Order: sequence, then C-alpha cells, then structure tokens
Amino acid sequence: MAMKTLRSLVPLVALGLTAITASAQPGPETIIRGGEVFTAGGLRSADIRVVGSTIAEIGSGLAARGASTREIDARGRLVLPGGVDPHVHLGRDRLDDYTSGSAAALAGGITTISNFGGVGAGSTPAAAVAQAAADVDEQAIADFIFHPIVSDPATATPETLAELAATGQTTIKVFMVRPTYDANAAGFVSTMHAARETGVLMMMHCEDAALVQITSERLLAEGRGGLENFPDARPVTAEVAATQRAVSMAEQTGAALYIVHLSSEGALRVAERAQARGLPVYVETRPIYLHLTRERFDGPTPGLYIGQPPLREQSDVDALWDGIARGTVHVVATDHVAYTREQKLDPAQNVVQHRAGMSNLQVMLPMLYSEGVGDGRISLERFVEVTSSNPARLFGLYPRKGAIAVGSDADLVLWDPEETRTIRNEDMLSNSGYSVHAGRVVTGWPTLTMRRGEIVYRNGEVLGAAGSGELVRRDRWDGPPF
Ligand SMILES: [Zn+2]
Repeated sequence: MAMKTLRSLVPLVALGLTAITASAQPGPETIIRGGEVFTAGGLRSADIRVVGSTIAEIGSGLAARGASTREIDARGRLVLPGGVDPHVHLGRDRLDDYTSGSAAALAGGITTISNFGGVGAGSTPAAAVAQAAADVDEQAIADFIFHPIVSDPATATPETLAELAATGQTTIKVFMVRPTYDANAAGFVSTMHAARETGVLMMMHCEDAALVQITSERLLAEGRGGLENFPDARPVTAEVAATQRAVSMAEQTGAALYIVHLSSEGALRVAERAQARGLPVYVETRPIYLHLTRERFDGPTPGLYIGQPPLREQSDVDALWDGIARGTVHVVATDHVAYTREQKLDPAQNVVQHRAGMSNLQVMLPMLYSEGVGDGRISLERFVEVTSSNPARLFGLYPRKGAIAVGSDADLVLWDPEETRTIRNEDMLSNSGYSVHAGRVVTGWPTLTMRRGEIVYRNGEVLGAAGSGELVRRDRWDGPPF
C-alpha cells in the first residue's frame, strides 16, 4: 500500500509541482538547499526537506519549520540518490568486515551494499540470513542486503526459498564455475523453478567449469601457469557457453536471470539476444571490465589484476560501455573483495590457485562518472540508473532506495562535478590499503553522503557509527521491474 502511494507521487515531481508534502513525520529536520537534484524527471534546481530518515518534501525555497532545522548548502553540487551495490563480499573471515566495507562505500557515494554467505550442507538460505543479520546489527554503517550462496541445490527447494523470502532477502547466488556445479546441474534447474515459484531472483556466475578447469590445467602442465597467462586460462568461450546455458535455463523455467560481472562482448551478445526475445535477463558488469584491459597482465604485477572472469580486450571494454549506453547492461557493481597488495602479489599463485577480486567500493562511482559521464560515453541518467535505481528495482528495494522522491529513504549523495582528484592508496578506507586504480585522475567526487537522513560521510571523514546500518527487507521478484 505504502509502495503504491510512493510510485504514484513520483510522476507529480516530474510534472513540475513546486512542492509535495508527505504527512507529518517525527524526527529532526534537515534542508538540503540549492542543489541540482536528480529526480524521476532528471535534474532540477530544488531544495530537499528530510524529516527523520526519509525525504519529506522536494521544492523551491523551502522554509525551515523550527529553530533546530539543520541546513546543508548544496549549491554547485549534484544531489544524487545513494549508490546501491548489490555485489560486495565482506565478513569476519575477510579483510573488510561490515564496518570497513561500509566506510569505503559511504566515502564513495554508495549507501546500500550487499554481502554474500555460503549455505552449508544440510543448512538453509534463511539460516545464512540470520547469521548475517547479527553481523549487520553489530558492524554495519551502510544499509545492507544479503545473498545466500547455494552450492548444493538440495538446500534451495520451494520450501527453503519460501522461508528465505519470508526473511525479506529475495536472492540466491549460484556459481556455474565451481566443479560442484556440473555434478548437480539437474538440481540447479529445479532450484531455478523453485526461485521462480517463490519470487527469488537467481544471480549466476557464468563461466563454464569444465572449460576453465581443463584450459587452466593444460596451461599449468605446459609450464605456462604463471599469472601473466591468466586471461588465457579463462577464455571468453567459457563465459559464452555458461551464459548461453544460464539463459536457456531461464527460458525453460520461466525464471528471471541476473548475470553477475559479465566481462566480454561475446557473453553480452548472448544476453542481448535473450533480451531481444523478451526474456528477463539482466546484466551486471564491473569496473575492472570498463577501465582495464588484459595488457595489464603483461606488466610486472599481474597478480593485482586477477578477477574472475579475467580482463579482456579493448573491444570488450567498448562493447560493455556501449551496452550501458543502450540499456542492455543494467548494473555496474564492484564485486569488492579486500586483499592486501602483498596477498595479491604472492608469488605462490598460478592460473589454478590464486586470489581473485579486489577492493573497489570507494572509487567505482567517481571513475564511472569521470570516464562515463565526463567523457561523454554515457548520460547522467544512465549513470544513476546502473549504480542506483536499476539495482534498487532488481533487488526489491525501489522506491525506498534508488530514488529521490517523497517517502523514499533519505539516501543522498552531494556530488561535486568539478572536483578533480588523483586516486591515491593512502586515501583508501578499505583494509586492503591500496587501489588498483591509484594514479588515475578523475573529475567528479562525492563530498557528502547521507544514509536515512544521517550524515555518514563528509569531506573525507566517515561519521556514521558501526551498528547504525540496517539489513533492509526487500520485495519478492514480481516480474520485470523496467
Ligand atoms: Zn563476487
């Protein structure tokens, strides 16, 4: 009911009404004054009244209602909805926990992030959520969503997925690239049926396990197992084959499919053909596939660039930017996972055994803005879509998250479109202590981040307290959201 009300209000803002007032809500008041505000209709000069944790009013010349009203000067700033990154790995067993991961995200303009956690043999996805909820309560500053990782499809049945959806978390993740996938392939088809029946969205890592295994083992046996050969160990063919298979599973079961970190033009074309046939196939890509190419592996530090799938060719990079511009790539998410530089450069690694992934939460938005919007590759509207409103819609958070609208959570970023900075290791808040993008010069940077009405980051300093973040309840998958 409340959701419907919010939806119907959004177009009114676009129609140019000067002010829309929600019913009185308790809590302190903040007016964000004079910014260029991104609402459903695009950018408009406006003030935003925040009452408590939500946006109460958007309009011109808003008057303070009490002596205690806090004012934030947003002149010269864009005011954007907080970023939503549905692909982040954190935890007590990792270098970044919910606190340091939150800090990096908030400093980078991202207010809602994910975590993943495995479902043990004989356990359930809902049990994994319960464990995560305790950690969020204690450690989170950003708001969170959670995705159970299903390795054994026997743990993801109509019953256990209905139980999962009842917890308010409505996704699972499946790794086609793991050796256990093919041994359980029939079970995962049944799981996809169960996902459709229960309103759960399946996120799939699409690399073919057999092709990756044999290709990398052969390289190793030939004495070419060094990390400089990592891109050859996980070829595009493996990504295309798995993407095709996942699309066919979605087509046959009637389920929606969310493809995580798609990296190649070949796999994108598979997804685009499915989309053209009207299938609910959604594509996420990742900053490293937009900003880096496989030539990095010819340099002295190939270990820094290890991610699964690997870096590809410039033609793949161009295809992914073009996919964002055309709307066939729906989400840009970090796949953030923190390792130190030393861990990433550990000489014991090879194409089979290695540490995959890197930290990226703090610089994803500035880099995408600078090289996307700034360089004219994508519009500001697309930038907001792929980093906020689309993931909010796909993951059952919209319009509470992913929108600047009356009634939405006051998750806001003040963005200085003129500020030019060099990305520096010493500024990074992730415990990884470095950025793979250090030395890049970018224009456009977040100066203030608000999460549910609270200023949690301002000019280099994280202000929010551990434990103030929430595990956000999400809607079930209910058909294509756009
Ligand atoms: Zn991941």
